[in-house]
Amino acid sequence: MSTIPTATISRLVTYLRILTGLENQGIKNTSSEQLADEAHVSAFQVRKDLAYFGRFGTRGAGYTVPTLRRELRRILGLTRAWSVGIVGMGRLGQAIAHYPNFDQYDFSLKAYFDIDPERVGGEVKGMPVHHVDDMPRVVKEKGVDIGFLTVPHGAAQDAADALVAAGIKGILNFAPSVINVPDDVHVEPVDFLAGLKRLSFYIVNPQLKEELA
Ligand code: NAD
Repeated sequence: MSTIPTATISRLVTYLRILTGLENQGIKNTSSEQLADEAHVSAFQVRKDLAYFGRFGTRGAGYTVPTLRRELRRILGLTRAWSVGIVGMGRLGQAIAHYPNFDQYDFSLKAYFDIDPERVGGEVKGMPVHHVDDMPRVVKEKGVDIGFLTVPHGAAQDAADALVAAGIKGILNFAPSVINVPDDVHVEPVDFLAGLKRLSFYIVNPQLKEELA
């Protein structure tokens, strides 16, 4: 498979959300124009994004909503359940642990880790907080696939190394840190302060449109 722009993957997530909405309304068919309209991109962009993954729909007739939705779920790896472990059970880790809607998306929280003796051995929302040293065992026992990194900047690389050593292949990194991982591990940054800086750039440069390609 060729290299696929990150923006394409982000848009696939948006198309899936739109398709889910259409399906919930009982709508059976859609078009690249309708998806484009709701996703605020061009119909050409929709067709180009989908073309990375094969041929969908019929020329002139558009797409069948349940079929395209099923294909996008398959492409995005969402046809299976994912188990998540959180590393760093401070303010953000605990806030995420209390988020009620994970299961609805087939992502379930299975384990919590920290190094602070005040936190290790305690419980958050009825689940124990383990020491990071126990990560390999707990990850295996609980079948954890994905790690959320909610540790301070200075601890991010160490905590990521622990996740990698435990066999985790995907890390959602909430710390404002660039972390190094092996090629077969993917890190997805979630940095709201970086988002604020991008936002301020677009507000002070209103003539510049975001590059979507
Ligand atoms: P916090 O200090 O409340 O919690 C951090 C926790 O990490 C503590 O419990 C600490 O004991 C633990 N920890 C430290 N080193 C560790 C290690 N090596 N292994 C495991 N656990 C370890 O911090 P917070 O306010 O929850 O913020 C956590 C991170 O999230 C920070 O990097 C912060 O910048 C970031 N943050 C991100 C967002 C966002 O939107 N992405 C928002 C707020 C905070």
